[in-house]
Amino acid sequence: MSTFYDTHAHLDYPDFAPDLPSLVERASVAGIKRIISIGTDLASSAQAVALAERFPAVFAVVGWHPTNALEAPADLRADLRSLAVHPKVVGLGETGLDYYRMPSAQGGTAADDEAYRNRQADIFQQQLEVAAEVGLNCVIHQRSALEDTLRQMQPFVGRVRGQFHCFADDANAMRRVMAMGSIVSFTGILTFKNGQNIRDTMAATPLGSFMLETDCPYLAPVPYRGKRCEPAYVKEISVVAAEVKGCSPDELSEATCRAAHEFFPKLTRP
Ligand SMILES: [Zn+2]
Repeated sequence: MSTFYDTHAHLDYPDFAPDLPSLVERASVAGIKRIISIGTDLASSAQAVALAERFPAVFAVVGWHPTNALEAPADLRADLRSLAVHPKVVGLGETGLDYYRMPSAQGGTAADDEAYRNRQADIFQQQLEVAAEVGLNCVIHQRSALEDTLRQMQPFVGRVRGQFHCFADDANAMRRVMAMGSIVSFTGILTFKNGQNIRDTMAATPLGSFMLETDCPYLAPVPYRGKRCEPAYVKEISVVAAEVKGCSPDELSEATCRAAHEFFPKLTRP
């Protein structure tokens, strides 16, 4: 059986509290030998680190999600630095920019929108700085904000790479991400009936230049669509990915795991 990794999971979410040991075991049985649990604020990042200490297959990424930006402390950097030196912390994030639901769409003013955008950019900048300092890369959450995200990362090219996670943009956007030395990853949306645009983007993405992920508990692939997602379901994503790329499961395994080790240098081999 081919080995795959879930490079983006939210194991600290309460959805998983009842059955974490069996969830990690089910993943292993399905061939999913590495799970990276992603922080969305400092508490969630600390929980991701604790899970990485508890389960050998689990690693952590520490950071603050852009949609939580208004709750962030003024300066995150000292806290993130001290978390990032942990041997099982493999990256910073998830961070980036998300303009999908702005305050003005929920009764706020244009000034509220501007404050929200500025706060997102500020904590994104802090996370890019810490990543550069500690020699790790960033897991990027980007929604309806591609231009600003690429612009803000530009000064870090050559020092910090981004994993544009849950990639849902077109092949042209993918090429711009790759031109900056960054990389994309694909979720279970790849398996959706209405996911042809994602399959087209993956078809244009060279093997070795993308990773697989679930973003669980969200985005369960077919045939689990609408249910709680979990890392074992990378298996279902990998089946469709191998079809899209016209390669064998072993070739896909080798290419996606190699991409993960290049991107997350502290991730150890199973
Ligand atoms: Zn996420």
